[in-house]
This record gives sequence, structure tokens and C-alpha cells, in this order.
Amino acid sequence: MHRTGGIWLAAILAVILIGFLGYRVTNYVIKGPNQQYYQRTKADRRGKIDRSIYSQSELRQLTVLTHGNRYSGNTSLDTAATQHVYQLNGHNLPNIVGADGILKLYSKSTFMTPAMVRDAAEYWNKLAGKQIVVIVNKQYQSDEVIHDGQHNQHVLGGQTYNGQGIKFYPANWQISHLSAKNQQNWKEAALIHEIGHALGIPHLGGGPLGSNAANAGIAITDFMGPWAVGGTHTPAQNEYGVRSTAVDAAALALAGASWQKPRRLASWVLTSPTRAVTYNHGRITSTIP
Ligand SMILES: [Zn+2]
Repeated sequence: MHRTGGIWLAAILAVILIGFLGYRVTNYVIKGPNQQYYQRTKADRRGKIDRSIYSQSELRQLTVLTHGNRYSGNTSLDTAATQHVYQLNGHNLPNIVGADGILKLYSKSTFMTPAMVRDAAEYWNKLAGKQIVVIVNKQYQSDEVIHDGQHNQHVLGGQTYNGQGIKFYPANWQISHLSAKNQQNWKEAALIHEIGHALGIPHLGGGPLGSNAANAGIAITDFMGPWAVGGTHTPAQNEYGVRSTAVDAAALALAGASWQKPRRLASWVLTSPTRAVTYNHGRITSTIP
């Protein structure tokens, strides 16, 4: 009786243990390692430039481009060539690309239409010259989720890095006075911009934080800076759509060399910096090989 009771107890404990492990594994597979609902891949903050992707002279060339000027670029990225770190003002820059070198996005946003989300992925892939962003059909397959925020905040959208994914705040967009083309282009620029943060690119509006242009209230043509259109002081170039700049492309090249799976991206910028990809009212054109 005593012996049988012990066997039964062991069997029951084993069932509980297997059930618990099953729950943990299911949680891991379904919810992702950090168990966050909107960001399923942990932000990677290694902050290092892989030395096998670019030669030293190529790295220097890329950082000359990203150094920019007063209202463009980011001087923090200079250290990618000098110290082979990928940092913003001494802090490692995060990305959520994951171990496979492809950013997988799932969208629940109604503010950004499915076509706009697909176009944003295509835009990045054309800029990179390789597939680096894909839109997945199931949330559990994603690294991050694009969705609309419910709370009233004074921002248009953001990359949260804290598990809340890419969030847009439709109520804060006061652009109904603009043409349909400019409205769509501005929204697409914001979407491309937030995906850029997920890829590990910081703001490119000048200075060590890339924030000079935003702080000065100046809109610029680099979509990783404060891109805007339709105003009296917005760049005339932006009336033709969201056209990538050499600064955007060089920053992507550096970001790719910092990923868990380092990749050589947008290297065409080293030889043909004037090439570009453009989004204009639902159409993407490109001069990138
Ligand atoms: Zn931003």
C-alpha cells in the first residue's frame, strides 16, 4: 500500500511537471521569448560593428555620409568607423531584427492600410538591395506588431522598443487640409521611419542625437529625420514623395553590420550615392540596382 501510494504520487508529480514544461514551451513559442504581445523578438543591443562586412575605408566612407551636416545625419555614428561600435551618444543602439537577419512585421493598424504596410516593406528591401523586411500573416510569426494607439498622446507614432511595437496615434494627425497624395506620403514616411528604428537606425536630423532639425522645428528630406510635406517651410523635394537620401542608405548599411546576423546592405551607396527609392501616392520607383 505504501509502495503503491509512492508510485502514484511520483506519477502525479511527473504529469504536473510535464504540464508545466509544456506550458512554458507553449508560452515561449506562442508569445516569444520576452512574452510581450506587440514585440515578440527581444531588442538586441550588442552595439558592435561586425568587422567582416566592410573594409575600414568603406566604413569611413559610410560614416562620412552619416556624419551629415547641422540638420542632417548623426555624428554619433562616426564611432562605427573609429571604435567599431554602433552607438548613439555612447549608448548601444537597439534593433529587433532577430537572429535570422529579416525583420518580420505583422500589422493590426487600420490607420496604415495593408497596401501601405506592404509598400513600406518593399521600400526597405529596394533600399537594402536585399530582402530585409517581410510582412507576415500571423502575429506569432512576427518580430513586431504595427498597431494603432488608444491613448491620447502628443505624438504621431513611435517605435517603443519596450514591447509595445510600432504604434500610431490617428487622432493626433492634423493633416486633413493636405492633398490626398501628401497625406498618404506623410503617413507612409512615418511608417517607413518607424520600421527604420526597428532595423536599428537612429534619428538622422543632425548632431550627436540626430535631433537638431526636430529641435529647431525644421522639416528635412531624410525620412529618418523629421520628414514633413505640404507646409510653407517644408522641403520642395517632399512634394514628389518620400525619396531616400544617401544619409538614410548609409545609416542602413551601418545598422546591418550591427545585427545579430550581420548583413551587407545598401552597399551601392558607396559607389552611387545619388541613387534612391521613392514612394509617391502608392507607387514605388527606384534607381537602385
Ligand atoms: Zn523616430
